[in-house]
Amino acid sequence: MSAPYILQLNQIEVIYDQVILAVKNVSLAVRQGSIVALLGANGAGKSTTLKAIAGLVRAEIGEVVQGRIYYQGLDITHAAAADLVNQGLVQVLEGRHCFPHLTVEENLYSGAFARKPRAVELNQALERIYHYFPRLLKLRKNQAGYTSGGEQQMVAIGRALMANPKLVLLDEPSMGLAPLMVEEIFQIVHQLNQEEKVSFLLSEQNATVALQYAHYGYIIENGRVAAEGETKVLSVRDDLQSLYLGL
Ligand code: ATP
Repeated sequence: MSAPYILQLNQIEVIYDQVILAVKNVSLAVRQGSIVALLGANGAGKSTTLKAIAGLVRAEIGEVVQGRIYYQGLDITHAAAADLVNQGLVQVLEGRHCFPHLTVEENLYSGAFARKPRAVELNQALERIYHYFPRLLKLRKNQAGYTSGGEQQMVAIGRALMANPKLVLLDEPSMGLAPLMVEEIFQIVHQLNQEEKVSFLLSEQNATVALQYAHYGYIIENGRVAAEGETKVLSVRDDLQSLYLGL
């Protein structure tokens, strides 16, 4: 039997500056315990879709979300980002956004802030992160700003995991990273998914690696879903290769 959906988007539209329709009628779903990829070119609307889910579309500056977003069966369309984090839905933003002057470990601590954990819980949470990212254990006392791009991506994912998420939104995890580092990061995503059943919705321009690790994929073009399917099917569809996937 298939797992239930942890996330469902029904006909989502996102409007910037009252006129720019960055996302047009996107419907998609993520099954509990799966890895789902949003693929597509620069500017297709992938980041905006993730922003809408994470509660980061800001009404106060005229940004609008229409349609309905359900997380664990609850309507979260206009929920605040901080409330979503408490419910286990966290986003790792494109570009990583570590605190450069804090150490790696202090950055990780900051991810647990909303949970107000006791010292024992905090240490257990850190141990868990170091289990998945042994590299971060070695770097724990280093200033995050002086670590490599790949290591900062690990810090950003590790910090998100400190909130104990059920669903992680990952925006372009491979951006600007060397191929070996991309593999290492996707391996860790895979391991977290296998060992702890954490669900992932990730946006990627690197279709090769995303198709290899995700179970299901959506190809976004010009704010719409141009194609969708199991990644093993998408990867062998000749019509999609050069048209949308740049392969
Ligand atoms: P990328 O990989 O470059 O992030 P993307 O597929 O994630 O691309 P989005 O960043 O979601 O695409 O952009 C979708 C469209 O919305 C683009 O035309 C972009 O220029 C526009 N856009 C994105 N953010 C804003 C904003 N804050 N204000 C106005 N327009 C925006």
